[in-house]
Amino acid sequence: MKIVLIGIQGSGKSTQGNLLAKRFKVPYLSTGHIFREIAKQKTQFGRYIKEVINSGALVTNEIAIHTVFEYLKKPDYKNGFILDGFPRTITQVEAFNKENIDHVVYIRIKDKSALERLLLRCATESREDDTQKAIKKRIRMFHKHTKPVLKFYKYKGILIEVNGERSVEKIQEEIVQKIEKK
Ligand code: AMP
Repeated sequence: MKIVLIGIQGSGKSTQGNLLAKRFKVPYLSTGHIFREIAKQKTQFGRYIKEVINSGALVTNEIAIHTVFEYLKKPDYKNGFILDGFPRTITQVEAFNKENIDHVVYIRIKDKSALERLLLRCATESREDDTQKAIKKRIRMFHKHTKPVLKFYKYKGILIEVNGERSVEKIQEEIVQKIEKK
């Protein structure tokens, strides 16, 4: 089972992704998590990634594609994965087109809800990449770069869309139901 998860930051992708990984017995892989780990490294590359993610921008397509491909080469991902955060641009979709994705799950929440959830996370978890300016930029980036990705997968007929403004359990139930129905 190869599943891609898409949603604005704050939509609950990692919670749903981890649940789906357990359910379908495939590993969960988050590019946001990978880049936040790289950002901790005291190297020039680490500092570059930190600067990019803290500003709310996207890392270059070249880096994102290279990073994901390096991970997916590992035997752990041979039988499937739940991929959170990639592809996020049309260029990434094109590079990823050879990979046979079964489902693309879009967890939809309103921009206002994303902003509220992230500001709350910013206050309680003090995640360095959650400043108000960066959050707003990330929402803008989602509309500009990732909405076309959704359109592409919808056209391809593998997009599953769920309302992310409900309980974790309800959202999970709907995703699993839709996956099993397809
Ligand atoms: P996320 O937790 O998925 O929102 O990712 C956190 C940050 O990592 C993003 O705001 C981007 O700066 C970077 N990032 C993660 N995935 C990608 C990607 N596929 N392409 C470009 N940048 C990414």
